[in-house]
Amino acid sequence: MQSLCILGATGSIGKSTLDVVRKNPDLYRVESLTANSNINELLLQIIEFKPTRVVVVNEKAADQLSVKLKAHTEIDAVDVLHGEQALCQVAQDMNVDMVMAAIVGAAGLLPTLAAVRAGKKVLLANKESLVMSGELFMNEVIRHNAILLPIDSEHNAIFQCMPFDVQKSAYQHHFADQGVSKILLTGSGGPFLNTPISDLSCVTPEQAVAHPNWSMGRKISVDSATMMNKGLEFIEAKWLFNASAEDIEVVIHPQSVIHSMVQYVDGSVIAQMGNPDMRTPIAHAMAFPQRIDSGVKPLNFFECKDFTFTEPDFARYPCLALAIEACNQGQGATTVLNAANEIAVEAFLNNQLGFTDIATVVKHSMTAIGSPRAESIDDVLAIDNAARVVANEWLNSNKRQGYMNV
Ligand code: NAD
Ligand code: MG
Repeated sequence: MQSLCILGATGSIGKSTLDVVRKNPDLYRVESLTANSNINELLLQIIEFKPTRVVVVNEKAADQLSVKLKAHTEIDAVDVLHGEQALCQVAQDMNVDMVMAAIVGAAGLLPTLAAVRAGKKVLLANKESLVMSGELFMNEVIRHNAILLPIDSEHNAIFQCMPFDVQKSAYQHHFADQGVSKILLTGSGGPFLNTPISDLSCVTPEQAVAHPNWSMGRKISVDSATMMNKGLEFIEAKWLFNASAEDIEVVIHPQSVIHSMVQYVDGSVIAQMGNPDMRTPIAHAMAFPQRIDSGVKPLNFFECKDFTFTEPDFARYPCLALAIEACNQGQGATTVLNAANEIAVEAFLNNQLGFTDIATVVKHSMTAIGSPRAESIDDVLAIDNAARVVANEWLNSNKRQGYMNV
Protein backbone atom coordinates (compact mmCIF):
# COMPACT_ATOMS: atom_id res chain seq x y z
CA MET A 1 0.00 0.00 0.00
CA GLN A 2 1.50 3.36 -1.05
CA SER A 3 0.49 6.67 0.49
CA LEU A 4 -0.24 9.63 -1.68
CA CYS A 5 -0.20 13.42 -1.37
CA ILE A 6 -2.19 15.20 -4.08
CA LEU A 7 -1.21 18.83 -4.64
CA GLY A 8 -4.11 20.44 -6.52
CA ALA A 9 -6.63 17.72 -5.61
CA THR A 10 -9.71 19.70 -6.68
CA GLY A 11 -8.48 20.31 -10.23
CA SER A 12 -8.91 18.22 -13.35
CA ILE A 13 -5.73 16.14 -12.77
CA GLY A 14 -6.38 15.91 -9.02
CA LYS A 15 -9.86 14.48 -9.58
CA SER A 16 -8.62 12.01 -12.21
CA THR A 17 -5.93 10.86 -9.75
CA LEU A 18 -8.55 10.26 -7.07
CA ASP A 19 -10.55 8.27 -9.60
CA VAL A 20 -7.56 5.95 -10.14
CA VAL A 21 -7.23 5.61 -6.34
CA ARG A 22 -10.97 4.81 -6.17
CA LYS A 23 -10.41 1.93 -8.63
CA ASN A 24 -7.40 0.58 -6.71
CA PRO A 25 -8.22 0.95 -3.01
CA ASP A 26 -5.93 -1.93 -2.01
CA LEU A 27 -2.88 -0.27 -3.55
CA TYR A 28 -3.15 3.42 -2.61
CA ARG A 29 -4.07 5.43 0.47
CA VAL A 30 -4.59 9.21 0.45
CA GLU A 31 -2.48 10.87 3.14
CA SER A 32 -2.98 14.52 2.18
CA LEU A 33 -4.96 16.70 -0.22
CA THR A 34 -4.49 20.35 -1.13
CA ALA A 35 -6.61 22.96 -2.91
CA ASN A 36 -6.67 26.65 -3.60
CA SER A 37 -10.12 27.65 -2.36
CA ASN A 38 -12.72 25.11 -3.55
CA ILE A 39 -13.61 23.87 -0.08
CA ASN A 40 -16.90 22.28 -1.13
CA GLU A 41 -15.13 19.88 -3.50
CA LEU A 42 -12.38 19.32 -0.94
CA LEU A 43 -14.96 18.46 1.73
CA LEU A 44 -16.48 15.77 -0.51
CA GLN A 45 -12.98 14.38 -1.11
CA ILE A 46 -12.22 14.35 2.63
CA ILE A 47 -15.44 12.45 3.32
CA GLU A 48 -14.64 9.84 0.67
CA PHE A 49 -10.85 9.44 0.98
CA LYS A 50 -10.25 10.24 4.68
CA PRO A 51 -6.87 11.99 4.43
CA THR A 52 -4.88 12.83 7.58
CA ARG A 53 -4.10 16.39 6.48
CA VAL A 54 -5.48 18.94 4.05
CA VAL A 55 -4.08 22.31 2.98
CA VAL A 56 -5.83 25.30 1.43
CA VAL A 57 -4.11 28.47 0.31
CA ASN A 58 -5.55 31.08 2.66
CA GLU A 59 -6.61 31.23 6.30
CA LYS A 60 -10.21 32.22 5.56
CA ALA A 61 -10.78 29.09 3.45
CA ALA A 62 -9.14 26.98 6.19
CA ASP A 63 -11.52 28.43 8.81
CA GLN A 64 -14.56 27.86 6.60
CA LEU A 65 -13.50 24.28 5.95
CA SER A 66 -12.94 23.62 9.68
CA VAL A 67 -16.47 24.85 10.43
CA LYS A 68 -17.93 22.56 7.77
CA LEU A 69 -15.91 19.60 9.07
CA LYS A 70 -17.28 20.07 12.59
CA ALA A 71 -20.76 19.32 11.25
CA HIS A 72 -19.50 15.94 10.00
CA THR A 73 -19.05 14.06 13.24
CA GLU A 74 -18.60 10.79 11.34
CA ILE A 75 -15.21 11.95 9.93
CA ASP A 76 -12.03 11.25 11.92
CA ALA A 77 -9.96 14.28 12.89
CA VAL A 78 -8.31 15.97 9.90
CA ASP A 79 -5.53 18.56 10.24
CA VAL A 80 -6.54 21.65 8.28
CA LEU A 81 -3.50 23.80 7.37
CA HIS A 82 -3.06 26.81 5.12
CA GLY A 83 -0.36 28.67 3.20
CA GLU A 84 2.58 27.88 0.94
CA GLN A 85 4.75 26.53 3.72
CA ALA A 86 2.06 24.02 4.64
CA LEU A 87 1.87 22.94 0.97
CA CYS A 88 5.62 22.23 1.10
CA GLN A 89 5.24 20.49 4.45
CA VAL A 90 2.70 17.94 3.23
CA ALA A 91 4.72 17.35 0.03
CA GLN A 92 7.80 16.36 2.04
CA ASP A 93 5.98 14.53 4.85
CA MET A 94 7.70 11.28 5.85
CA ASN A 95 4.32 9.46 5.77
CA VAL A 96 4.02 10.16 2.04
CA ASP A 97 5.53 7.85 -0.61
CA MET A 98 4.24 9.53 -3.73
CA VAL A 99 3.33 13.15 -4.58
CA MET A 100 1.04 14.11 -7.45
CA ALA A 101 2.20 17.62 -8.43
CA ALA A 102 -0.99 19.01 -10.01
CA ILE A 103 -1.16 22.63 -8.92
CA VAL A 104 -1.54 24.87 -11.96
CA GLY A 105 1.15 27.44 -12.83
CA ALA A 106 4.14 28.89 -11.02
CA ALA A 107 2.35 28.40 -7.66
CA GLY A 108 3.32 24.73 -7.98
CA LEU A 109 7.08 25.32 -8.07
CA LEU A 110 8.00 25.37 -4.36
CA PRO A 111 5.68 22.53 -3.22
CA THR A 112 6.86 20.35 -6.14
CA LEU A 113 10.48 21.11 -5.33
CA ALA A 114 9.82 20.27 -1.67
CA ALA A 115 8.67 16.80 -2.77
CA VAL A 116 11.76 16.43 -4.99
CA ARG A 117 14.11 17.50 -2.18
CA ALA A 118 12.50 14.96 0.14
CA GLY A 119 13.39 12.26 -2.44
CA LYS A 120 9.77 11.30 -3.13
CA LYS A 121 8.31 9.57 -6.13
CA VAL A 122 7.04 12.71 -7.88
CA LEU A 123 4.33 12.49 -10.53
CA LEU A 124 4.82 15.69 -12.49
CA ALA A 125 1.73 17.29 -14.04
CA ASN A 126 2.76 20.85 -13.13
CA LYS A 127 4.88 21.45 -16.26
CA GLU A 128 5.25 25.15 -15.41
CA SER A 129 7.60 24.33 -12.51
CA LEU A 130 10.01 22.54 -14.85
CA VAL A 131 9.71 25.21 -17.54
CA MET A 132 10.63 27.87 -14.95
CA SER A 133 13.47 26.14 -13.19
CA GLY A 134 14.76 23.63 -15.79
CA GLU A 135 18.32 22.63 -14.97
CA LEU A 136 18.05 23.61 -11.30
CA PHE A 137 14.98 21.38 -10.93
CA MET A 138 16.63 18.39 -12.66
CA ASN A 139 19.79 18.82 -10.56
CA GLU A 140 17.66 18.60 -7.42
CA VAL A 141 16.00 15.42 -8.74
CA ILE A 142 19.42 13.82 -9.20
CA ARG A 143 20.90 15.16 -5.94
CA HIS A 144 18.00 13.89 -3.82
CA ASN A 145 17.43 10.60 -5.68
CA ALA A 146 13.82 11.53 -6.37
CA ILE A 147 11.90 9.46 -8.89
CA LEU A 148 10.37 11.83 -11.44
CA LEU A 149 7.61 10.39 -13.63
CA PRO A 150 5.86 12.50 -16.27
CA ILE A 151 2.08 12.85 -16.17
CA ASP A 152 1.72 15.15 -19.16
CA SER A 153 0.28 12.68 -21.68
CA GLU A 154 2.94 13.43 -24.32
CA HIS A 155 5.88 13.04 -21.94
CA ASN A 156 4.36 9.99 -20.37
CA ALA A 157 4.00 8.57 -23.90
CA ILE A 158 7.62 9.45 -24.77
CA PHE A 159 8.76 7.86 -21.50
CA GLN A 160 6.87 4.67 -22.37
CA CYS A 161 8.43 4.59 -25.87
CA MET A 162 12.01 5.13 -24.63
CA PRO A 163 14.36 2.17 -24.10
CA PHE A 164 14.22 0.73 -20.57
CA ASP A 165 17.79 1.93 -19.84
CA VAL A 166 16.72 5.51 -20.49
CA GLN A 167 13.66 5.09 -18.25
CA LYS A 168 15.89 3.83 -15.44
CA SER A 169 18.65 6.37 -15.80
CA ALA A 170 17.05 9.29 -13.96
CA TYR A 171 17.42 11.52 -17.01
CA GLN A 172 21.22 11.41 -17.04
CA HIS A 173 21.59 8.95 -19.90
CA HIS A 174 21.73 10.38 -23.37
CA PHE A 175 19.11 8.65 -25.49
CA ALA A 176 21.25 8.84 -28.64
CA ASP A 177 23.48 6.18 -27.03
CA GLN A 178 20.43 3.89 -26.98
CA GLY A 179 19.65 4.28 -30.68
CA VAL A 180 16.99 7.01 -30.36
CA SER A 181 17.16 9.67 -33.07
CA LYS A 182 14.18 11.93 -32.39
CA ILE A 183 11.29 12.76 -30.09
CA LEU A 184 8.05 13.40 -32.00
CA LEU A 185 5.85 15.56 -29.78
CA THR A 186 2.25 15.41 -30.98
CA GLY A 187 -0.48 17.99 -30.41
CA SER A 188 -4.06 18.29 -31.58
CA GLY A 189 -3.80 21.92 -32.71
CA GLY A 190 -6.62 22.84 -30.31
CA PRO A 191 -10.07 24.24 -31.09
CA PHE A 192 -8.83 26.80 -33.65
CA LEU A 193 -6.92 24.48 -35.97
CA ASN A 194 -9.16 25.38 -38.91
CA THR A 195 -10.43 28.83 -37.85
CA PRO A 196 -9.40 31.58 -40.33
CA ILE A 197 -6.38 33.35 -38.76
CA SER A 198 -8.10 36.71 -39.28
CA ASP A 199 -10.95 35.61 -36.94
CA LEU A 200 -8.66 34.65 -34.04
CA SER A 201 -8.52 38.13 -32.50
CA CYS A 202 -12.28 37.88 -31.79
CA VAL A 203 -12.51 34.42 -30.19
CA THR A 204 -13.99 34.29 -26.69
CA PRO A 205 -12.72 32.52 -23.54
CA GLU A 206 -15.63 30.04 -23.83
CA GLN A 207 -14.59 29.11 -27.37
CA ALA A 208 -10.93 28.83 -26.35
CA VAL A 209 -11.53 26.49 -23.41
CA ALA A 210 -13.71 24.12 -25.45
CA HIS A 211 -10.97 21.64 -26.40
CA PRO A 212 -12.10 19.14 -29.07
CA ASN A 213 -10.56 16.03 -27.41
CA TRP A 214 -9.40 16.66 -23.83
CA SER A 215 -11.27 17.88 -20.77
CA MET A 216 -8.85 20.05 -18.73
CA GLY A 217 -8.53 23.08 -16.44
CA ARG A 218 -9.12 26.54 -17.95
CA LYS A 219 -5.50 27.73 -18.05
CA ILE A 220 -4.12 24.69 -19.88
CA SER A 221 -7.14 24.75 -22.21
CA VAL A 222 -6.27 28.30 -23.33
CA ASP A 223 -2.61 27.23 -23.62
CA SER A 224 -3.76 24.41 -25.91
CA ALA A 225 -5.71 26.85 -28.08
CA THR A 226 -2.64 29.12 -28.53
CA MET A 227 -0.35 26.05 -28.63
CA MET A 228 1.70 27.68 -25.88
CA ASN A 229 0.95 24.37 -24.18
CA LYS A 230 2.97 22.55 -26.87
CA GLY A 231 5.69 25.16 -26.45
CA LEU A 232 5.82 24.56 -22.68
CA GLU A 233 5.86 20.83 -23.43
CA PHE A 234 8.76 21.32 -25.88
CA ILE A 235 10.77 22.89 -23.02
CA GLU A 236 9.52 20.22 -20.59
CA ALA A 237 10.70 17.46 -22.97
CA LYS A 238 14.13 19.06 -23.31
CA TRP A 239 14.69 18.87 -19.54
CA LEU A 240 12.93 15.58 -18.83
CA PHE A 241 14.74 13.63 -21.54
CA ASN A 242 18.06 15.49 -21.53
CA ALA A 243 17.42 16.50 -25.16
CA SER A 244 18.36 19.49 -27.29
CA ALA A 245 15.85 21.55 -29.26
CA GLU A 246 17.00 19.83 -32.50
CA ASP A 247 16.04 16.44 -31.04
CA ILE A 248 12.36 17.42 -30.70
CA GLU A 249 9.82 17.86 -33.50
CA VAL A 250 6.23 19.05 -33.05
CA VAL A 251 3.67 17.14 -35.13
CA ILE A 252 0.00 18.15 -35.37
CA HIS A 253 -2.24 15.11 -34.97
CA PRO A 254 -5.81 16.39 -34.51
CA GLN A 255 -7.30 13.07 -33.38
CA SER A 256 -5.16 12.85 -30.18
CA VAL A 257 -4.96 9.05 -30.42
CA ILE A 258 -1.17 8.97 -30.64
CA HIS A 259 0.09 10.79 -27.55
CA SER A 260 3.67 11.10 -28.85
CA MET A 261 6.36 8.98 -30.50
CA VAL A 262 10.03 8.11 -30.40
CA GLN A 263 12.00 7.56 -33.60
CA TYR A 264 14.99 5.19 -33.66
CA VAL A 265 18.08 5.22 -35.91
CA ASP A 266 17.00 2.01 -37.65
CA GLY A 267 13.82 3.70 -38.94
CA SER A 268 11.47 2.31 -36.28
CA VAL A 269 8.98 4.68 -34.75
CA ILE A 270 7.33 3.66 -31.48
CA ALA A 271 4.08 5.41 -30.61
CA GLN A 272 1.99 5.28 -27.45
CA MET A 273 -1.76 5.33 -28.18
CA GLY A 274 -4.99 5.36 -26.27
CA ASN A 275 -8.19 7.26 -25.72
CA PRO A 276 -7.52 10.85 -24.66
CA ASP A 277 -8.06 10.42 -20.92
CA MET A 278 -5.49 11.54 -18.34
CA ARG A 279 -6.24 8.55 -16.12
CA THR A 280 -3.98 6.46 -18.42
CA PRO A 281 -0.74 8.41 -17.81
CA ILE A 282 -1.72 8.90 -14.14
CA ALA A 283 -2.24 5.16 -13.61
CA HIS A 284 0.94 4.37 -15.55
CA ALA A 285 3.05 6.66 -13.36
CA MET A 286 1.39 5.62 -10.10
CA ALA A 287 1.99 1.93 -10.74
CA PHE A 288 5.29 2.11 -12.69
CA PRO A 289 6.84 -0.34 -13.50
CA GLN A 290 3.65 -2.36 -12.97
CA ARG A 291 0.29 -1.74 -14.73
CA ILE A 292 -3.08 -1.18 -13.07
CA ASP A 293 -6.66 -0.55 -14.15
CA SER A 294 -7.21 3.15 -14.85
CA GLY A 295 -10.89 2.96 -15.76
CA VAL A 296 -10.14 4.19 -19.30
CA LYS A 297 -12.07 2.55 -22.13
CA PRO A 298 -9.87 0.44 -24.44
CA LEU A 299 -9.09 2.08 -27.76
CA ASN A 300 -11.33 0.80 -30.54
CA PHE A 301 -9.44 1.17 -33.83
CA PHE A 302 -12.61 0.60 -35.84
CA GLU A 303 -14.00 3.83 -34.36
CA CYS A 304 -10.88 5.81 -35.36
CA LYS A 305 -11.84 7.38 -38.67
CA ASP A 306 -8.97 9.66 -39.67
CA PHE A 307 -5.38 9.47 -38.59
CA THR A 308 -3.61 12.59 -39.88
CA PHE A 309 -0.37 14.51 -39.34
CA THR A 310 0.71 18.02 -40.36
CA GLU A 311 3.42 20.56 -39.56
CA PRO A 312 2.49 23.40 -37.20
CA ASP A 313 1.83 26.78 -38.82
CA PHE A 314 3.73 29.37 -36.76
CA ALA A 315 1.59 32.22 -38.15
CA ARG A 316 -1.42 30.56 -36.53
CA TYR A 317 0.51 29.63 -33.37
CA PRO A 318 2.99 32.45 -32.60
CA CYS A 319 3.14 31.30 -28.94
CA LEU A 320 4.67 28.00 -30.06
CA ALA A 321 7.36 29.89 -31.99
CA LEU A 322 8.05 32.10 -28.95
CA ALA A 323 8.43 29.08 -26.68
CA ILE A 324 10.93 27.41 -29.03
CA GLU A 325 12.80 30.72 -29.26
CA ALA A 326 12.88 30.96 -25.45
CA CYS A 327 14.06 27.36 -25.24
CA ASN A 328 17.00 28.27 -27.50
CA GLN A 329 17.76 31.45 -25.51
CA GLY A 330 18.00 29.69 -22.14
CA GLN A 331 16.36 29.08 -18.83
CA GLY A 332 15.89 32.77 -17.91
CA ALA A 333 13.90 33.29 -21.12
CA THR A 334 11.66 30.29 -20.46
CA THR A 335 10.90 31.65 -16.96
CA VAL A 336 9.89 34.98 -18.52
CA LEU A 337 7.80 33.23 -21.20
CA ASN A 338 5.92 31.20 -18.58
CA ALA A 339 5.23 34.13 -16.23
CA ALA A 340 4.11 36.51 -18.97
CA ASN A 341 1.88 33.79 -20.40
CA GLU A 342 0.21 33.20 -17.02
CA ILE A 343 -0.57 36.91 -16.70
CA ALA A 344 -1.84 37.14 -20.28
CA VAL A 345 -4.01 34.00 -20.08
CA GLU A 346 -5.63 35.17 -16.86
CA ALA A 347 -6.37 38.57 -18.45
CA PHE A 348 -7.83 36.81 -21.51
CA LEU A 349 -10.03 34.58 -19.30
CA ASN A 350 -11.24 37.74 -17.51
CA ASN A 351 -12.15 39.37 -20.84
CA GLN A 352 -9.42 41.98 -20.43
CA LEU A 353 -7.28 40.90 -23.37
CA GLY A 354 -7.84 39.64 -26.90
CA PHE A 355 -6.81 36.07 -27.76
CA THR A 356 -4.06 37.12 -30.21
CA ASP A 357 -2.70 39.64 -27.68
CA ILE A 358 -1.53 36.74 -25.50
CA ALA A 359 1.43 36.29 -27.86
CA THR A 360 1.99 40.07 -27.96
CA VAL A 361 2.29 40.27 -24.15
CA VAL A 362 4.67 37.29 -24.06
CA LYS A 363 6.86 38.66 -26.86
CA HIS A 364 6.96 42.12 -25.27
CA SER A 365 8.05 40.64 -21.92
CA MET A 366 10.71 38.43 -23.53
CA THR A 367 12.14 41.41 -25.44
CA ALA A 368 12.11 43.62 -22.33
CA ILE A 369 13.82 41.13 -20.01
CA GLY A 370 15.85 38.82 -22.25
CA SER A 371 17.33 35.71 -20.67
CA PRO A 372 18.93 36.59 -17.31
CA ARG A 373 21.08 33.90 -15.67
CA ALA A 374 19.38 32.01 -12.86
CA GLU A 375 21.77 30.33 -10.46
CA SER A 376 19.28 29.59 -7.70
CA ILE A 377 15.55 29.14 -7.18
CA ASP A 378 15.52 32.63 -5.65
CA ASP A 379 16.89 33.96 -8.96
CA VAL A 380 14.12 32.08 -10.80
CA LEU A 381 11.47 33.60 -8.56
CA ALA A 382 12.95 37.08 -9.07
CA ILE A 383 12.88 36.66 -12.88
CA ASP A 384 9.32 35.32 -12.68
CA ASN A 385 8.31 38.36 -10.65
CA ALA A 386 10.05 40.82 -13.00
CA ALA A 387 8.24 39.28 -15.99
CA ARG A 388 4.88 39.59 -14.24
CA VAL A 389 5.57 43.28 -13.56
CA VAL A 390 6.46 43.92 -17.23
CA ALA A 391 3.46 41.96 -18.51
CA ASN A 392 1.10 43.79 -16.13
CA GLU A 393 2.57 47.15 -17.18
CA TRP A 394 1.85 46.27 -20.81
CA LEU A 395 -1.74 45.34 -19.87
CA ASN A 396 -2.26 48.57 -17.92
CA SER A 397 -0.80 50.89 -20.53
CA ASN A 398 -2.70 49.26 -23.35
CA LYS A 399 -5.91 49.40 -21.36
CA ARG A 400 -5.41 53.16 -21.10
CA GLN A 401 -4.89 53.43 -24.83
CA GLY A 402 -8.11 51.52 -25.41
CA TYR A 403 -6.62 48.49 -27.19
CA MET A 404 -8.41 46.00 -25.03
CA ASN A 405 -11.36 43.91 -26.12
CA VAL A 406 -13.67 45.21 -23.36
P1 NAD B 1 -7.06 22.95 -12.70
O1 NAD B 1 -7.17 24.41 -12.85
O2 NAD B 1 -8.21 22.08 -13.05
O3 NAD B 1 -6.62 22.59 -11.18
C1 NAD B 1 -5.59 23.28 -10.54
C2 NAD B 1 -5.45 22.85 -9.09
O4 NAD B 1 -4.46 23.70 -8.47
C3 NAD B 1 -6.74 23.01 -8.26
O5 NAD B 1 -6.81 22.00 -7.28
C4 NAD B 1 -6.54 24.36 -7.58
O6 NAD B 1 -7.23 24.44 -6.35
C5 NAD B 1 -5.03 24.37 -7.33
N1 NAD B 1 -4.47 25.73 -7.30
C6 NAD B 1 -4.73 26.74 -8.16
N2 NAD B 1 -4.03 27.83 -7.82
C7 NAD B 1 -3.31 27.51 -6.72
C8 NAD B 1 -2.41 28.22 -5.89
N3 NAD B 1 -2.10 29.50 -6.11
N4 NAD B 1 -1.85 27.57 -4.84
C9 NAD B 1 -2.16 26.28 -4.59
N5 NAD B 1 -3.03 25.56 -5.32
C10 NAD B 1 -3.60 26.16 -6.39
O7 NAD B 1 -5.75 22.53 -13.54
P2 NAD B 1 -5.44 21.13 -14.23
O8 NAD B 1 -5.98 21.11 -15.60
O9 NAD B 1 -5.74 20.01 -13.30
O10 NAD B 1 -3.84 21.25 -14.41
C11 NAD B 1 -2.97 21.10 -13.31
C12 NAD B 1 -1.53 21.03 -13.84
O11 NAD B 1 -1.42 19.84 -14.64
C13 NAD B 1 -1.15 22.20 -14.76
O12 NAD B 1 0.19 22.51 -14.55
C14 NAD B 1 -1.35 21.63 -16.15
O13 NAD B 1 -0.50 22.21 -17.10
C15 NAD B 1 -0.97 20.17 -15.94
N6 NAD B 1 -1.58 19.26 -16.90
C16 NAD B 1 -2.94 19.13 -16.94
C17 NAD B 1 -3.55 18.27 -17.86
C18 NAD B 1 -5.04 18.09 -17.90
O14 NAD B 1 -5.51 17.25 -18.68
N7 NAD B 1 -5.83 18.78 -17.13
C19 NAD B 1 -2.74 17.56 -18.76
C20 NAD B 1 -1.36 17.71 -18.69
C21 NAD B 1 -0.80 18.56 -17.76
MG1 MG C 1 0.09 17.51 -22.62
